[in-house]
Amino acid sequence: MPMRLYNSLTKKVEDFTPQNPNEVLMYQCGPTVYDYITIGNFRTFALGDFLYRALVQNGYKVKYIMNLTDVGHLVSDNDEGADKLEAAAERDGTSAREVADFYIKDFYSGYDKLKLTRPNKFTRATEYIQEQIDLVETLERKGYTYLTTDGVYFDTSKYKNYGLLSGYTLENIKEGARVEVNPEKKNPTDFALWKFSTPGVNRWQEWNSPWGRGFPGWHAECSAMAMKELGATLDIHLGGEDLKMVHHQNELAQSECATGSEYVKYWVHGSFLLIDDGRMGKSLGNAYTVKDIEDKGFDPLSLRYLYMTAHYRSKLNFTWESLQSAQNALKKLYDIVSSYQESPEAHVNQEYYARFRDALNDDLNMPKAVSQVWELVKNNTISESVKIATLLRFDEVLGFNLENHVGYEVPDEIKHLAKMRSEYRKSGIFDKADQLRRQIEKSGYIMEDIKEGGYKIKRK
Ligand code: AMP
Ligand code: ZN
Repeated sequence: MPMRLYNSLTKKVEDFTPQNPNEVLMYQCGPTVYDYITIGNFRTFALGDFLYRALVQNGYKVKYIMNLTDVGHLVSDNDEGADKLEAAAERDGTSAREVADFYIKDFYSGYDKLKLTRPNKFTRATEYIQEQIDLVETLERKGYTYLTTDGVYFDTSKYKNYGLLSGYTLENIKEGARVEVNPEKKNPTDFALWKFSTPGVNRWQEWNSPWGRGFPGWHAECSAMAMKELGATLDIHLGGEDLKMVHHQNELAQSECATGSEYVKYWVHGSFLLIDDGRMGKSLGNAYTVKDIEDKGFDPLSLRYLYMTAHYRSKLNFTWESLQSAQNALKKLYDIVSSYQESPEAHVNQEYYARFRDALNDDLNMPKAVSQVWELVKNNTISESVKIATLLRFDEVLGFNLENHVGYEVPDEIKHLAKMRSEYRKSGIFDKADQLRRQIEKSGYIMEDIKEGGYKIKRK
């Protein structure tokens, strides 16, 4: 079964066909690095990892870019308020650059602990200022922009498909009679491409531009970086569902107007992680981080397991109990795997592998993929070594580090006997060595000699 994915633009599950049959160009909106990255954010980044690994199972090479938003994301998504990095620098009594560096480091740490595949590049918005200015200049030259007292704006009425992604059109906005905060905007959906600095507010984040000193609008960065790194048309664009309405709709509009080409073939949006069935928030004290998980004695991979228990388009509820259940399941799997005997001749069971891959290809149905693990271990007609080989293949996607658990907990006494036997052999005292080998075997273990005098202890 070829891969099928739900496309938020067409609102249908579609067959996935990249532009180049061998390579997939994938972009994900990364974190705004002004605070600790939460386990909610990580649910969305884990979606990127699952999709990446599923594509690799389908034989694709994936070129994956993720940005780090260190400028332009304002306190309100409606182009108002201070830049989040400026506000954080104020809060922490430091510079915007230091704020970003600190939280990027924290982000990488959680990212790696969850075994998320690193993209080919993490692109940092402040390192692509010129590309963002170039984008705004192109849009200006093509007549899509206008100037106000606080910046350069994109005129959404000039892009005929505005609202197709967000469902948020000029017409239904007018019906909703939203109160407009910026009277200079021609249409309520118009958005800033470049904002002028406010003296006293912009202390760190401002650059020169043809329109005056300022900083890029939030959406400009993703278009500029994605197109610089991947070209005018991306195969997949990922992000959390909250980004669809404003950020992605605006990114789409400005990119297509700048290039005249289709911007994204498949828009993929992940549903939110809830905490105790509600919103997660700093003010609610439940914006947990990977470190919080570890501090409570949990393995971060248990969180990875938990993410797989819901389809990415369904809400997932986090409770400490649900994390405990995920951890129990994972530990049970480790126990099972460590009781299996590995054999180099064993092959992957193709029937189970096909079912596993079909689940991935069915709009990335991770719960169904994980259920193949449990069905496989329950199956009495398949040998343990084949189960191991198959599970290790599954683990290329699951990322549970199963290979570290294959094998046995060898008792210290046996390890000691094995060491002595090895010493006797090296000294040419073979009768003693043989005696110890028999003793080890009697206890249920075998010593396998490997090259250069080394050995492996296995259960008999
Ligand atoms: P931000 O740091 O706010 O730019 O968000 C980074 C990513 O995390 C975006 O793709 C958001 O949509 C996503 N995100 C934020 N909160 C949650 C949540 N509770 N569950 C899942 N994804 C989230
Ligand atoms: Zn973005």
